[in-house]
Amino acid sequence: KTPTDLNLLAEEYLRLAYQNLRLKDESFEADLRLELDHGLEKVPVVAQEMGRVLLNLYNNAFYAVQEKARSQASDGSGVGFQPQVAVSTHIREGKVELRVKDNGTGIPEEILGKIYQPFFTTKPTGQGNTGLGLSLSYDIVTKGHGGDMQVETEEGQYTEMIVQIPVN
Ligand code: ADP
Ligand code: MG
Repeated sequence: KTPTDLNLLAEEYLRLAYQNLRLKDESFEADLRLELDHGLEKVPVVAQEMGRVLLNLYNNAFYAVQEKARSQASDGSGVGFQPQVAVSTHIREGKVELRVKDNGTGIPEEILGKIYQPFFTTKPTGQGNTGLGLSLSYDIVTKGHGGDMQVETEEGQYTEMIVQIPVN
């Protein structure tokens, strides 16, 4: 592990995830929001692993807003929907907290207890969504870094994934 600026990592990977998506779908646009606490201390992490966590969270967020845009376009209710992915950092109680929030589909309560299970996915097969993203991310954050991961969501409204990493 090396002392790492999570603000920098969070921003770099957000742009990377967005660019990758736009290569596949030029017409897709989302509002990217960064609310970074610039008083953040560096935290000891394996940067490559945390990068994977971020990429997983961002890809899920972009998928959720795309999915919502698609379904609203098909039922005609999507006028004015503006896809948004926001990342924010905070320092609290000896931990750095990173939040990834999207205004996409949200997660239905029935499946909330399953999202960290390996191979659990609600996405069609054959597009690289293996259902391993959150399972792997959870392990990296908890077992790998002594941190914690939580989710806040409301179906049809938003999902916010929260990652906490201890400073020491
Ligand atoms: P995958 O993305 O390959 O499906 P993940 O482990 O990353 O696997 O996520 C598991 C499931 O959790 C997803 O299939 C989806 O149903 C749900 N999920 C995760 N993140 C979000 C999100 N931001 N919005 C809505 N659903 C989500
Ligand atoms: Mg995923």
